[in-house]
Amino acid sequence: MASIPSVEILQLQKVRLFSWNMRLSSDVQEDGQILFLIKSRTIDSTATSNGEFTGPIRFNFPFNLDSLSTKNDVKKLVRKIIRQTKQFKVLREIFALANNITEFLVKNYSLGLGLETSFSNPDSPKLIIVVEVNQTLVSEVGILDKVGILDQGNNYEGANEGFIEILLRNLMNVPVSSLKPVDGSERMGLTQVPGLDSFQPCELMAGDDHEGTCAICLEGFSGNSCFKMRCSHVFHGDCITKWLWRKRSCPMCRSRLS
Ligand SMILES: [Zn+2]
Ligand SMILES: [Zn+2]
Repeated sequence: MASIPSVEILQLQKVRLFSWNMRLSSDVQEDGQILFLIKSRTIDSTATSNGEFTGPIRFNFPFNLDSLSTKNDVKKLVRKIIRQTKQFKVLREIFALANNITEFLVKNYSLGLGLETSFSNPDSPKLIIVVEVNQTLVSEVGILDKVGILDQGNNYEGANEGFIEILLRNLMNVPVSSLKPVDGSERMGLTQVPGLDSFQPCELMAGDDHEGTCAICLEGFSGNSCFKMRCSHVFHGDCITKWLWRKRSCPMCRSRLS
């Protein structure tokens, strides 16, 4: 009889935000979806190998931006989704996973930083948060020494975008025939939204020609984070990430940012 795993290790592989510019059926009213991809493996003492990961198990859950105005809202949503997957077992691991995902979404994509209005137009591109987790279940603590649990490191590139799009179309019942560009100014299909970690933090010098204000909120930079785009325009970190939820180009010069 197979032994019941006594150890669970959850590794957050990747969290990414995408914009999905797609005509969905009119009953899809939400601003976005969280897509969970979970790979799982069980290692027991009788196994000759380390146990291969299963292909990803998928879960998707809708969300609305106006229900995510604080970091705590984001954490509550993430925990709720983790619970609903019914895939995870050890409470301490679940809480740590939820915290990691929340921190990343807040820091890198500025979710949960103030009240947002939902996308008013049902045809607006949807926000897609893709979370990838590896789960390892081990029957005895002693086995941990024998297997390379932490074997994937930080170089994991994440699931292929084409694969994610096919998954989304399946999960949300979107036939290929219905694919029409919605917002003509944006690329069709799935596009990754750049996170704050892909931009250069900047230090402002007196006399810089942007006059010390962020062109999105028209407020100064003193005491706030400032980030420089490739086109050399500068914005507050949370201002530019929130802009990028909806648009892919610099608000000043329209050059593409991804
Ligand atoms: Zn700003
Ligand atoms: Zn620019």
